[in-house]
Amino acid sequence: MNELAHLLKIQYDIADATISSLEGYANANYKVELPDGQRFVLKEHKAEEGLSALFIAEGNILSKLSGQFPDRFQEPILARDGNYLVKDGVDGASLYRMLRWVDGSFYYSTGHTPELFRSVGEQIAKMNIILQGESYPIIEARRIQWDLQYLTDLEGSIKLIRDPLLRKKVHYFMLQYKLHVLPQLSKLRRSVIHNDLNDWNLLVKENALSGIIDFGDIVYAPVIQELAVHLTYALIDKEEPLQWASYVLESYHKALPLTSQELDLLYHMIAGRMCLSLISSAQAKIDDPDNDYLSVSEEQIVRLINRWLEINPDRASNVFRSACGMPDLSVENIEESLNRRFTHISKAQSVSYSNPIKMNRAAFQYMYDEYGNTFLDAYNNIPHVGHSHPKIVEGGIKQMSRLNTNTRYIYNQLADYSEKLLAKFPAPLNKVFFVNSGSAASDLAIRMAQTFADSQNIMVMEHGYHGHTRSGIDISHYKFGRAGGRGQADYILKTEIPDTYRGKYTRDDGTAGKQYARDAAMALDDFKHPIAAFIAEPIVGCAGQVPLAKDYLKHVYPVIRQQGGVCISDEVQTGFGRLGSVFWGFELQEVIPDIVVLGKPMGNGHPMAAVVTTDEIANSFDNGMEFFSSFGGNPVSCAIGQAVLEVIEEEDLQKNALVTGSYFIHQLNKLKTKYECIGDVRGNGLFLGIEFVKDRETKAHDTDLANTIKNRMREKLILVSTDGPRDNIIKMKPPLCFNHSNVDTVIRHLDRILSSI
Ligand code: PMP
Repeated sequence: MNELAHLLKIQYDIADATISSLEGYANANYKVELPDGQRFVLKEHKAEEGLSALFIAEGNILSKLSGQFPDRFQEPILARDGNYLVKDGVDGASLYRMLRWVDGSFYYSTGHTPELFRSVGEQIAKMNIILQGESYPIIEARRIQWDLQYLTDLEGSIKLIRDPLLRKKVHYFMLQYKLHVLPQLSKLRRSVIHNDLNDWNLLVKENALSGIIDFGDIVYAPVIQELAVHLTYALIDKEEPLQWASYVLESYHKALPLTSQELDLLYHMIAGRMCLSLISSAQAKIDDPDNDYLSVSEEQIVRLINRWLEINPDRASNVFRSACGMPDLSVENIEESLNRRFTHISKAQSVSYSNPIKMNRAAFQYMYDEYGNTFLDAYNNIPHVGHSHPKIVEGGIKQMSRLNTNTRYIYNQLADYSEKLLAKFPAPLNKVFFVNSGSAASDLAIRMAQTFADSQNIMVMEHGYHGHTRSGIDISHYKFGRAGGRGQADYILKTEIPDTYRGKYTRDDGTAGKQYARDAAMALDDFKHPIAAFIAEPIVGCAGQVPLAKDYLKHVYPVIRQQGGVCISDEVQTGFGRLGSVFWGFELQEVIPDIVVLGKPMGNGHPMAAVVTTDEIANSFDNGMEFFSSFGGNPVSCAIGQAVLEVIEEEDLQKNALVTGSYFIHQLNKLKTKYECIGDVRGNGLFLGIEFVKDRETKAHDTDLANTIKNRMREKLILVSTDGPRDNIIKMKPPLCFNHSNVDTVIRHLDRILSSI
């Protein structure tokens, strides 16, 4: 401090000052107090190349700002020689500069009110108006990590984020930034901006902004970036972040009008700043693992990024626009959309809900409609690892931009993916045929079985569904036996569903399974002709998530094989870890099928499906007729399928299905004790069904109630569906990233709806 006192005397003619240390992020700062009450900040920096020019530019800017708003900005103090910068220390190793003190409490330490937010918006705008007139090559040439416009430079560092669940969110928003913001950047107005209006750099007095300090991150960038940075910090832990943002925007816009283009990018720019912050703290933690401050600010941003995912980006745009007196984004009304759809698309392709949803985007377990609503997706199993998962999207983009061709050429993606996929199966299942839909896969599986067994006959499960092709309908009782169906074909044998809730045998300790299997064997006998295959799902989805009675397949499979047929497990719904305790549904029954049909979750929405079988069956299919599917097994699908398997492993999604699913079932069972209308709660992992009955005694199906609940849940922005032969089962099979808090949301609304009925 003696050296500093000396410096003050020599350079600034100041004696008798009290000097104390202040906290500084990148450099040392001192508070200098004079007996007459004047106060200053003395800043000490390592003299590095280029720094002087930058400080001189910053000094000029501060002079301008403090010239207009003397209380609000720190006036640079000139040294005795008339210069703003002072070199000192051994061999001039340090640079000093002195700024007048600005009064106020730190923004983070004061209560936040709408008035304060409005004041902040207005003052930032007033600062930005002055900054718009400033031009410095040294600032324009500056390229620092904390400049959002270069966010994608940090793509390679996303991997430093250790938690895979946080990493995927950062990756998602980085990708969104790349796709939605980056191409627009060059079209935005730019200016010098402060670029770091966080809680530590804003001072508050009497519920209004009293000062803006620390211009160390000053850059030349899109003006709207100023607000993106500020709002990222201002919105932390706010219950209604968009509302709070609108206070700032409203007053900013009055002083310095924003454009709709700027406002429409703000949602993704704020998310981008969160990514920047989270990647930077991941980097910093590697250098300084014990720094608690880093973890605290990281946790705040993590809470905000989670909250942000629940916000429909279009809603954000509309709230921001409305704060600035601009009209909402223009959208087609739902009636027009429905009319347009049914002009070209048959009504045979139905639309869910009495109040249909027009979807626009989705992220993980959230779906966003065109009108600003965010739906919690408790229903869609196809986006298995989450909607728009960045790893899947990027895997597809990369491969699509490099090579997409067919299996008549050799490419590594096919072998790589086949190896990875088949490693998930027990040894005898070692050949895979790729196609593009579950229907094509079950059709192929049936054809293979018929070729292998040299018979046409197929045994199918009551209420089963396996596809929409001609043979798919033939083997799907759910279709041929219901409205519009043409009944059972001659070559089909339908077996009774081994349902222990509604069926004739109910002891699910293995007894019922054995009894149902015995009945199936008798039906086979009666059928008189050998059958080529028996196809069933391990949990019959369209029957209303009905699990096969314990040990059923264990007893049925040998009977099928004994008379020359093969056993097919349709894992289109149940595969890839959804059931939690097992990766494939057939494992629940402790059997190994001869053929497995895969689909839906395999490509997370990209159309891909497969038939997995044994060498023996695959060889019998190689009978001179070529098997070729134009798209099946193409390199893009393989890359996507591979990414899906990797994400399931990285994010431990099978375990999440088990843990979250068990919690879900537990909570549903609690509801069951409260409401008589819940006849049964069933399922495994995140593959669940709630059966509604008029009374528990008769188990009379309550179709209307299930339908009412489905539609009321939709109004509460939760997606579930109904199924079963009488449509009285609520079906839930959410993306596997579903979490406890999502379960709580579903349960809370179900509870409210049930109690109100
Ligand atoms: N099998 C099962 C069990 C299914 O649920 C479905 C689709 N709902 C299919 C096969 C047919 O799959 P896709 O719709 O991809 O043709």
